[in-house]
Amino acid sequence: PGVFVAGGFRGPKDIPDSVVEGSAAAAAALALVGASRGTQVIPKAYPPEMALDPEPRIGVFICHCGSNIAGVVDVGGLAAFARTLPGVAVVETTLYTCSTDSLGRIKQAIAEHHLNRVVVASCTPRTHEPIFREALREAGLNPYLFEMANIRDQCSWVHGGDPSAATEKARALLAGAVVRAARLEPLQRVPVPMRHDALVIGGGIAGMTAALNLAEQGFPVTLVEREAVLGGRLRMPLLLPDGSSARDARETIAARVAAHPNVQVLTSHRVTGSRGTVGNFETTVAGPDGERIVRHGATIVATGLREWHPAPYGIDEDPRVITLAAFEARAMADAATGSAQAGTSPPARRASSVVMLLCAGPWDRMPFYCSRTCCTQSLLAALTYKRAHADAAVTVLVREVRTYGRAEEIYTEARRAGVMVFRYAPDAAPQVQRAPEGITVTVRDQSLGEEVHLPADLLVISPAQLPAEGAAELCTIFKIPATAEGFFLEAHVKLRPADFASEGLFLCGGAHYPKPLGEAIAGALAAAARAGTLLWRESLEVGGVVALVDRDRCTTCLTCLRLCAYDAITFDADGIAVVDPARCQGCGLCVAACPGNALTLGHYTREQMLAKITALLAPQETAYAG
Ligand code: SF4
Ligand code: SF4
Repeated sequence: PGVFVAGGFRGPKDIPDSVVEGSAAAAAALALVGASRGTQVIPKAYPPEMALDPEPRIGVFICHCGSNIAGVVDVGGLAAFARTLPGVAVVETTLYTCSTDSLGRIKQAIAEHHLNRVVVASCTPRTHEPIFREALREAGLNPYLFEMANIRDQCSWVHGGDPSAATEKARALLAGAVVRAARLEPLQRVPVPMRHDALVIGGGIAGMTAALNLAEQGFPVTLVEREAVLGGRLRMPLLLPDGSSARDARETIAARVAAHPNVQVLTSHRVTGSRGTVGNFETTVAGPDGERIVRHGATIVATGLREWHPAPYGIDEDPRVITLAAFEARAMADAATGSAQAGTSPPARRASSVVMLLCAGPWDRMPFYCSRTCCTQSLLAALTYKRAHADAAVTVLVREVRTYGRAEEIYTEARRAGVMVFRYAPDAAPQVQRAPEGITVTVRDQSLGEEVHLPADLLVISPAQLPAEGAAELCTIFKIPATAEGFFLEAHVKLRPADFASEGLFLCGGAHYPKPLGEAIAGALAAAARAGTLLWRESLEVGGVVALVDRDRCTTCLTCLRLCAYDAITFDADGIAVVDPARCQGCGLCVAACPGNALTLGHYTREQMLAKITALLAPQETAYAG
């Protein structure tokens, strides 16, 4: 206990999985040491902000990014061009502007040259802007007096084959950044108190894991589940590699959740509305006894999956057609007894030929996506059945085998045990003929290039995993995005895989996309870790890039009220629009729509943006209008 593992050390994996596992390991550690969280933190002290000289003195720092930028863009020529731009007091080039040394140099230059604006021409602000803003703060400059030009992603990377065009574009981006920087204004953020309790929506394995971990970290949690009992997919057989069923674990974890003093479980309840924002949500949940309001600082969405019901294959009328879950139960029972028993799911007699149809649909009604769990679960069930019945013919039909990572061992073992695997093309789905004397499945195998006719005593269907009932409703209630398939969409696939773009909202489990049990648990712990980073704070800073109202111009037309997806706008006693900075996400929609031009978006004013656009489009020698 007390030693945790994450990332590539456990096996090959992509960046999002490594990030999730890193956060999950942190959550597991926090469950042990959560009580002492924050006790060793020494608040960072910043120098007072310098008064802003009205005359811009801009420092421009151009990054080589190793050879990422300098291998294509003429960095020296760009620096010479930057020196010609009005308002620029100093221009420097650096090998890596985000390195500690270079950040130190920026701070030094601010002091030496009395800079009051900084422009960095380098990579993407999405990842690096916070680092540079922090450097400004440490040097006594307001962090909003900073602008970036992305000359890597938008120049050297996309125009790598044309250095001259890449350099020309870099000049335009830099000119635009400099003219905007000259017009930037300092903005202030204000602290708002933070609630320390969480709401977890969904009581499957992911929801229970997230709730339990947050409770162990010391935060009160309300766990809301639509069904009458906790468990989600754990209520299905779900065969594990050691031959046991995940269902056995359901009661243990559900009991731990129910018994934890920090967890309030609301089964047979569903979320019907929510208002507020990070740190201060008010969510309405409805249950058998009516509605109640849950107040919470963070929200974790873990609504899980549901299985498509494969009625077109005859599942409701033919006992010879069963789902993968039913076959898993049967394989487990047979493995335990060594043979099929009377009383197992029909047909009770031992099936000597089993055909398992994967990627089964419903792809005639929706675009194909991989349900990610069926290949491994099917091959595990096939292997288990084959071990119980060595002479049975077990055949798996699949578009493409995706037993990634260590699940590849299951594929290898299944093949060694004699499980046959045929790959079919997306436009040549296997044909099923059901007759009283037997089922025949015809598949055109991609390797053989021939049709194969397979008799089946038992046809096992692996249906698609779909988003849970009510997922679309939650998108509307919490203003959270979803993919075309209806799964919730994370803020950034690699950098923030457990976060929604809106602060204080997190996602995990099958609600994100179909996941095997281990990944669902890791994702749940990651979401709990991310939520914990907010919940332990006493306050959060809000404001900065938010809409501002010019009271003299507001005509109470209510356009902004109707448009704002975050309920950030109210009206005061005089009928004038008021923006709540804690709720405003700075999307700018109301600003663009306000017919009276009464709204401005901080840090993106019309003057700043028009100056930048003009400079971007102008020939470079006339880019700066002063
Ligand atoms: S859209 Fe503009 S004018 Fe209309 S109510 Fe909102 S702020 Fe006032
Ligand atoms: S910018 Fe306007 S529309 Fe967007 S969140 Fe803020 S108040 Fe709402």
